[in-house]
Amino acid sequence: MIQAHHQSSEYDAIIVGAGFAGMYMLNSLKKLGLSVKVIEAASDVGGTWFWNRYPGARCDVPSMEYSYSFSEDLQQEWNWTEVMAAQPEILEYANHVADRLELRADIQFNTRVSAAKFLDGDKRWRVDTEAGETYICQFCIMATGCLSVPNTPQIDGAETFKGDVYHTGEWPHTGVDFENISVGIIGTGSSGIQAIPVIAEQAKHLTVFQRTPNYTMPAHNRPLTEDFREDAKDNYADIRQRQRESIAGIIGYGFGFGGSDTVEPTEAILETSAEEREAALSKEGFSAIPRYIDIGLDMSANELACDMYREQISRTVKNPQTAEGLMPRGYPIGCKRPVIDTHYYDTFNRDNTTLVDLRQGGIEKITETGVQTSQGQFDFDALVYATGFDAMTGALLKMDVRGAGGVKLSDHWQAGPRTYLGLQINGFPNMFTITGPGSPSVLSNMIVSIEQHVDWISDCIKHMAQNSLQLIEASAEAEENWIAHVNEVANGTMLTAPSCNSWYLGANIVGKPRIFMPYAGGVGTYREYCDAVVTNNYEGFKLSA
Ligand code: FAD
Ligand code: NAP
Repeated sequence: MIQAHHQSSEYDAIIVGAGFAGMYMLNSLKKLGLSVKVIEAASDVGGTWFWNRYPGARCDVPSMEYSYSFSEDLQQEWNWTEVMAAQPEILEYANHVADRLELRADIQFNTRVSAAKFLDGDKRWRVDTEAGETYICQFCIMATGCLSVPNTPQIDGAETFKGDVYHTGEWPHTGVDFENISVGIIGTGSSGIQAIPVIAEQAKHLTVFQRTPNYTMPAHNRPLTEDFREDAKDNYADIRQRQRESIAGIIGYGFGFGGSDTVEPTEAILETSAEEREAALSKEGFSAIPRYIDIGLDMSANELACDMYREQISRTVKNPQTAEGLMPRGYPIGCKRPVIDTHYYDTFNRDNTTLVDLRQGGIEKITETGVQTSQGQFDFDALVYATGFDAMTGALLKMDVRGAGGVKLSDHWQAGPRTYLGLQINGFPNMFTITGPGSPSVLSNMIVSIEQHVDWISDCIKHMAQNSLQLIEASAEAEENWIAHVNEVANGTMLTAPSCNSWYLGANIVGKPRIFMPYAGGVGTYREYCDAVVTNNYEGFKLSA
C-alpha cells in the first residue's frame, strides 16, 4: 500500500526491541508495505520471556487473555496448558508467532541500540548500534519494554562474593542447578515471590533477605482442560472485546475473582462485622480479601483488609517470629504491583528456609561468603538478586536519545517522564513509545495495551502516508495537559499513598525522580481518549508535510 523505502541502511521504520510489542509492530508495518528493521539486544524474540528464566517464572494473567488477539488463526491454533502459563511456554508461544508470521528475517538480533538522534535537516532518525552500525529511518519506534533493564543495587563488597551470582531478569539460558547448594536471595517482589518456593525445593538451604514484605495472593493456578479451551475459543471475540473495554485488560474469563468462581468483588469491608470477616478468613484464607470492593478506595477499609492479611499470615506460618517478619506494615494493599504466588508462605514452614527481615537490621555489606547485616552474617554458596528493574524509563534513558535541536531525552525528562498519551514526546517528532510512561502499560495486561498502541501507531502512519504527511509530533500543550491528567487520576488512590514506595513511582531506583508513571484511568477509558484524538484529526499532535 505504502511505497517502501529501503536503500541498504535506510528504512521507513526502525523498531527497537523484539518482545511482544516489537514483534506485533513489525508485523503491522510489514502489512502496510513499509520497509522495517527490528533491532534486538537478545539472541531471539520474546523480550521479558527471553530474559526472565528464573525458577518459577510465569505470568499472573490468564494466558487465554495474555496472548495476541490480532490474529484469529493464532488464537485458535495455540493451546495453553495452564491458566497462567510458565515462562518456557510463553517463550515457545513467542517463537511460534515469529515462525508463523515469518518475522525473524527482519530482526537483527544480538545488537543493542546505543543512540537515536533526530536529524533536523533530513527529518529522519539516525539509529546507532553498539556494534557501530548506523541506520536512517523516518519513524523510530521504541518497543524497548517497561521492565527490561534489571536493577542490581549497589551494595558494598558485592564484587568480593566468591560464589555464583544471578539476577532473575538475566537468568542463564542453561538453567541453574541449586541441588546441594545453599542460596541467598535478595528481594521479595513478584520475581522473588515466584522464585523462592521453587528454589527452596531445590536448594540445600535458602536465606531470604526481605526489605519490605509484600501483600501476595494465592494464584490458584491449574491446568486448562480441553473443554475450557474450546469454550473460550468459541467466545474469543466477546472475551477480547470485554478485555479491551475493561480497566486492566483482564476479565478472568471462566475463573473469576481471586481464581475462584465468584466473578466480581461486591461487599464493602467497612460494612462487615469482625465475626463476618473472621468467617470469611476461615473459609477462604487470603482469597477472602480481594472480594471487598472498598479496600482500594478508602484507607480505613484498606487497614481492615491489612489486619485480615496479617492475621492470615499468622495462621499460615508456624514460627511466630517468622510470621511477624513476613507481615507488611505501614503501607496499603494496592500501592505496589499486585503479586500472586504459589505456596509462598508455606515455604517459610520448611526447615531449609530462613527469613531475614531486614527491618530488624539492614544489609551492611556483601562479603566473600554471604551477606553481613546488622543482625549478623548469613553465609551461602550462590546469591540471587530478585531486585527488579529500572522500570518504564530505564531502557529509553539508557540510550542516547536526542530529538529536534539535539535536545536530550534525559534533559526533557529530568524531573520525570513527560509524554502525550504515552505514545509520543514533545520535541521528538516521528518517535513513538509503545506502552510508554503516561499510558496504562504496567497497570494492565500488557498485551492488551501493546496491541492498542501498535494499532494506533500503524493507523497513524497509514494516515500520514495517505495524506502525504512527513512528520508527527506531540505539542507541548498536549503533553502538559496529559501529564496533569495522569497525575490527577492517580492522586488520592492507593497507588500514590504517601507511605507507598513502588517502582511505579520510581522509588526503587536511587536518584530517580518520584513521579507516578503509568496512566491509572484503565485501558477502556484510555482507548476512548486515543480514539477521540484520532477522530478530532489527531488533536494535540502537529502533523506536517
Ligand atoms: P519486553 O518484553 O521487555 O521487550 C523489550 C525488548 O527490547 C527486550 O527484548 C530488550 O532486549 C529489547 N531492548 C531494550 N533496549 C534495547 C536496546 N537499546 N537495543 C536493542 N534492544 C533493546 N505483564 C503482564 O501483563 N502480565 C504478566 O503476567 C507479566 N509477567 C511478567 C513477568 C516478569 C518476570 C516480568 C519481568 C514482566 C512481566 N510482565 C507481565 C510485563 C512484561 O514485560 C510485558 O507483559 C511484556 O512482555 C512486555 O513486552 P514488550 O515487548 O513491551 O517489552
Ligand atoms: P520489584 O517488584 O521491584 O521487587 C524488587 C525487590 O527487591 C523488592 O522486594 C525490593 O525491596 C528488593 N530490593 C531492591 N533493592 C534492594 C536492596 N538494596 N536491599 C534489599 N532489598 C532490595 O521487582 P520484581 O520482583 O522483579 O518485579 C518487577 C515487576 O515485574 C513486577 O512488579 C511485575 O510487574 C513484573 N513481574 C511479574 C511477574 C508475574 O507474576 N507475572 C513476575 C515477576 C515480575 P523494596 O520493596 O523494599 O524496594
